[in-house]
Amino acid sequence: MRLILHIREMQSWSEAERRAGKRVALVPTMGFLHEGHLSLVREGSGRADRVIASLFVNPKQFAPNEDYRNYPRDFERDRALLEREGVDILFHPSAEEMYREGHHTHVEVEKLDRFLCGAFRPGHFRGVTTVVAKLLNIVRPHVAIFGTKDYQQLQIIRRMVEDLNFDIEIVGQPIVREKDGLAMSSRNAYLSAPERQAALCLHRSLKKAESLVRHGEREGGRILSAVKEELEKEPLARIEYVSLCDPRSLEELESIRDQALLALAVWVGRARLIDNTVLTA
Ligand code: AMP
Repeated sequence: MRLILHIREMQSWSEAERRAGKRVALVPTMGFLHEGHLSLVREGSGRADRVIASLFVNPKQFAPNEDYRNYPRDFERDRALLEREGVDILFHPSAEEMYREGHHTHVEVEKLDRFLCGAFRPGHFRGVTTVVAKLLNIVRPHVAIFGTKDYQQLQIIRRMVEDLNFDIEIVGQPIVREKDGLAMSSRNAYLSAPERQAALCLHRSLKKAESLVRHGEREGGRILSAVKEELEKEPLARIEYVSLCDPRSLEELESIRDQALLALAVWVGRARLIDNTVLTA
């Protein structure tokens, strides 16, 4: 696996691969990798001849009060994990390289960023779409792989790629969970042992909603109450939002007709955890 730190070098490597007729996949990450990230890498390997994993903790998607500085980092471990997965290129630019002095261009996907996490993290998705647009232009992959763990992010990226005519296939991959159901996340590293236990309430609450729907419940209000009740049983958890919405437009739903996204963000200690499930009537 080759480590590339500079944009120009990344561009010319990709250009050469494309010219040689190779199909290129990109897996963007912020590092501190876990099985969720690796599942994206494996999907990329199955879909392309070359796999590039990017590792960039993007300052633009963190608000000043958020955890940019303390975001978990372990470059050597990440490098070893990607090497073991057979990744061809680890692209790891610095923040200075990505945002040169005088950088004033941002990509904003309107509307979809008003809901869910976007309502609580102003500017977050503008940072995400800006960096993803840059990565797509730098790497020029044929396909880019993302997780549905960040469901809203995936929808926003799909919208951006469609609206701005990026000729790139966007693939969403299912949430990878720990054995006990906790969605894998780099931020799980923030959890103490009791908090780790408390964090199981997210998955438990989603399971409860799934079970209600399986037994015929379609009423949004009742599903949301049941989910909140489950989360509120856990004294270490603090709900940021619980939302039942249309899986495409992300607009709130009163009831489930065919499919609904149930998405939540819950604070446990200093970790802001998100999780979701698509409920099918
Ligand atoms: P991050 O490093 O948190 O920015 O995540 C990089 C990519 O990995 C994003 O597309 C995430 O949606 C995806 N991802 C993160 N956690 C998981 C997970 N538990 N299962 C599947 N994909 C994930």
